[in-house]
Amino acid sequence: MTRRVGILGGTFDPVHLGHIDVASAGVRALHLSSLVMMPANVPPHRPSPSASPFHRFAMVSLAIADRHGWTASDMELLDPARSFTSATLDRLHVQGYAASELYFLIGVDAFRDIASWKDYPALLDKANFGVVGRPGFSVATLAGALPDLASRMRTPDHVPGGQTMIVLIDAATTDVSATAIRLRVAAGQSIDGLVPASVAQHIERHGLYTASVSDRRSGDSH
Ligand code: ATP
Repeated sequence: MTRRVGILGGTFDPVHLGHIDVASAGVRALHLSSLVMMPANVPPHRPSPSASPFHRFAMVSLAIADRHGWTASDMELLDPARSFTSATLDRLHVQGYAASELYFLIGVDAFRDIASWKDYPALLDKANFGVVGRPGFSVATLAGALPDLASRMRTPDHVPGGQTMIVLIDAATTDVSATAIRLRVAAGQSIDGLVPASVAQHIERHGLYTASVSDRRSGDSH
């Protein structure tokens, strides 16, 4: 049986239920055999995250601890260079994964900026891209927003083998962002129901995000 490996990259500052929903939707819709959560090392085009890479990795590990087949990868964090998805996919190919076996999961808000990512459009040949809806951003509008890529877009039940595709996954995810969580913690507000309980406990125990934080929502593509 072919491997179908999902990868969810992100800053995860902190990981939240929206991320878990994206990964779950990908696993379900694409019948993934495994899922890798991969925290990025200082994403290009945005300021440094406010929790250390160690805390970001710890929170991801806690968030997925009870999920069979899900792992956290330190591949990007251990590379001193900035993380670029193109380079990460190259490294996975060197490790023996074929492009057609890889499913890079991404929220539709982030995918709309794909043309600004390093090695676009060759990047799209390095893995399948599973694009998941986000509250306020529907996958239905993606072909109109990115007409050059429309011919590569498919629904999950129509993914031919061999060639890499952009698979549109119409799923409901929790309406939350890491920015909103940082702001809530800094303001002393509850984050119950927005992050896994183990992650909330980690944030509280280590006093993360209590210093003043600014809204850094914009420009996190790579
Ligand atoms: P920030 O608020 O710091 O920009 P974020 O909440 O968008 O962070 P990231 O770690 O930057 O989280 O996101 C990683 C990936 O998860 C991106 O592809 C993003 O589109 C996707 N994503 C994050 N939150 C959601 C959500 N609620 N629904 C769907 N996709 C999401």
